[in-house]
Amino acid sequence: MDMFEKIKNHEQVVFCNDEDTGLKAIIAIHNTTLGPALGGCRMRPYRSVDEALEDVLRLSKGMTYKCAAADVDFGGGKAVIIGDPVKDKNPELFRAFGQFVESLNGRFYTGTDMGTTPEDFVYALRETNCIVGVDEVYGGSGDSSIPTALGVLYGLEATNHRLWGSKDLYGKRYAIQGLGKVGIKVAERLLEEGADLYVTDINQPAIDHLVSKARGMGAALKVVSGEEIYSADADVFVPCAIGGVINDNTIEQLKVKAVVGSANNQLLNLDHGKKLHEKGILYAPDYLVNAGGLIQVADELYEPNRERVLQKTRAIYDSLQMIYTQAENQGITTVEAADRFCEDRIHSRSRRNSFFSHMKRPKWSVRT
Ligand code: NAD
Repeated sequence: MDMFEKIKNHEQVVFCNDEDTGLKAIIAIHNTTLGPALGGCRMRPYRSVDEALEDVLRLSKGMTYKCAAADVDFGGGKAVIIGDPVKDKNPELFRAFGQFVESLNGRFYTGTDMGTTPEDFVYALRETNCIVGVDEVYGGSGDSSIPTALGVLYGLEATNHRLWGSKDLYGKRYAIQGLGKVGIKVAERLLEEGADLYVTDINQPAIDHLVSKARGMGAALKVVSGEEIYSADADVFVPCAIGGVINDNTIEQLKVKAVVGSANNQLLNLDHGKKLHEKGILYAPDYLVNAGGLIQVADELYEPNRERVLQKTRAIYDSLQMIYTQAENQGITTVEAADRFCEDRIHSRSRRNSFFSHMKRPKWSVRT
């Protein structure tokens, strides 16, 4: 297929090849209408360059929508490094990657994603300032799962308000899949609020930790198997583990009235948004709900201000309410409403940019 056909709608795709370190990476910049591209860097032993390219194109487009929904002044981008994160990592590889990022001269900001850690990017940071999400001692904002979990809780409140007329978290039953960095924080807060939980994880220590915490609080917690979580007798399903968990098989089992969680790409495909809708299950679009971490790293480009991050994360509550209302008024799914909202935001900004085309884009402050 013609390469330009393949990368259509993307502004720029950069193939990075460094013989000395063995770095093979692809950086995709989807859209910079709202600002420089922002997106994590994933490391995976892709079976082919085509597979890596397909992944990075899909993910960078997703970041354009996610940034627009979170109302941060960034566009969408993403990077993938082709390699095994267990065997192929070394400091020089990440320094070489940092040099490629630097060569884009501020058009692309990146940080950790699947297969990479904030520590990896400390090496990249020695070559470029365009790195976000490293530890606070290196000038980053640290653990992004805190605002992400907070965003999920605001998403749950907005959904409860929509469905039951009160945003209160207590008095409801939640089925949480995944008790990792985000899921455990959501679960602990829900227990504190007096909610009933069904939980599952493939990691027994994570379950043990929550069980002992719930026991200490006298809270209601039921541990279920990986398959049982879908048919749990709950009000809301909270996926905080992996993508693709909303599919034909699981929709059939779900008894909940809503799906609200942090996992990326929860719907196996867009049709599953329609199928949830047809079954009367309210779906909170994942990229809206899980934007807390993105809001925090985007904020790193300004003077650090935790209160501002929390305030922008709190806005997830209002955005979700608005998307629910628009979906209902227009007779469309919440996914369609969210996508339309993001596209409108981008188009209205691009009109303004062309109207003021003589003006330069705002210059980003460079961290020292
Ligand atoms: P994590 O790796 O810390 O936790 C994931 C948890 O899910 C782990 O405890 C793991 O054992 C469990 N898990 C994996 N497969 C499972 C399965 N089949 N069934 C049940 N449990 C399973 O990840 P995290 O940072 O907590 O993120 C959770 C999800 O939210 C991911 O999809 C991630 O992409 C998304 N997300 C996270 C952030 C963030 O700031 N951390 C931001 C946006 C989106």
